[in-house]
Amino acid sequence: MQHKQVSLLQCPYCLKSFSVAEVWQKAGQDIRFGSLYCLCDEFPVIEGILYLFKPTHRLLLDLLRARKFTEATLLCISQKRLLRSNMPWMKFGGMKLMSWLLDPSFLKRIGQRDVIRLLSYLMPKHLLEYYFTRGKWKDSFLIGVPLAILLEREKKQKVTSKSLYWLDIGSGIVNYFAEIQAARKNIQIISLDAGFSNLFLSQIFYPGQDVVRICGDAHFIQLVRPQTIDVVSVIDTLQCLSAPVPFLTELLDPLWLKKDAQVFVSGLPEHLYLDRDWGIFPTPRSIIQQYFSLRGGKKVEPIFLNNEVLSAAFCEGTVEVKKVILTTKQRTFRYSFWWSQTQRLPKQLSSMFFSQAQRENATLSWETSQRKWTNRAY
Ligand SMILES: [Zn+2]
Repeated sequence: MQHKQVSLLQCPYCLKSFSVAEVWQKAGQDIRFGSLYCLCDEFPVIEGILYLFKPTHRLLLDLLRARKFTEATLLCISQKRLLRSNMPWMKFGGMKLMSWLLDPSFLKRIGQRDVIRLLSYLMPKHLLEYYFTRGKWKDSFLIGVPLAILLEREKKQKVTSKSLYWLDIGSGIVNYFAEIQAARKNIQIISLDAGFSNLFLSQIFYPGQDVVRICGDAHFIQLVRPQTIDVVSVIDTLQCLSAPVPFLTELLDPLWLKKDAQVFVSGLPEHLYLDRDWGIFPTPRSIIQQYFSLRGGKKVEPIFLNNEVLSAAFCEGTVEVKKVILTTKQRTFRYSFWWSQTQRLPKQLSSMFFSQAQRENATLSWETSQRKWTNRAY
């Protein structure tokens, strides 16, 4: 995290802008280990990632003050205290070994396959594999939808160098930030994920350019200064949140979100009834419809899209928007939605900014349900 990027952010708990409190270790211009303060608290920066979860942030700050950087990183990745430095095996060289294993340049050198093997001791292996193979899933490319809309709009305008701010919520590891930034100059990405390891590994293997990475809770989403964000993408994430409606309320707060911003939410498959530790259950479209119908102020309805058809068409290269719009009667979990107060959806979208090889590599879609979700509402 760079010093100049700090002024872009605010504390999502007190809504006061952040300032740099401490810098314990730098990497060039980036704060590698440090802390930021606001009106209510102080939060650690670990491996360049701002960490906002309470109360762990206090423990992490203590570790950073004692210069125990590896222990702080390890705690963020594993969320377990088994690996703390007062454990016997840690005293006998364990922490030194960990400091070597968790070094970003070492992880980059050994490659993804060995990283999965190595980190599966610290976190569930199936999750790591899922995150690392996102590029094989058609729906992962939907992060390009807001960009495709933006590029269509800018085709008609001549000036396209304006800086844009893009908030990606639930970024995972593979997220195409570099491709987005190559297709449209001057996009500052702010990447939020609840999983520190996702941000940490994404930074190593899919860094993008000057991406701001924040580990925090999506229910406290106003972590960028008001009236700044132009694009919000929420890919395969909404169904993982414990409170989708409060999340939307905070996200679409007109005091915070720019009037001409666009919001794209995707990936809510009804087949994904997996084990409890994934914590994923379907979010029916009616929840979103009801939220927008009860919302105060000027009514602007979201446009619901067929997630499967959209993903497939987007991977092929072109989307005829008319063909992917859902009617109000179709009741399904498999939807995406796009919302903007002032913009309109173009008739056609192109995903050619992703390479053909990348798009052809995406062959998977959610078809393998392992468990049936039962609820009277469905
Ligand atoms: Zn605060």
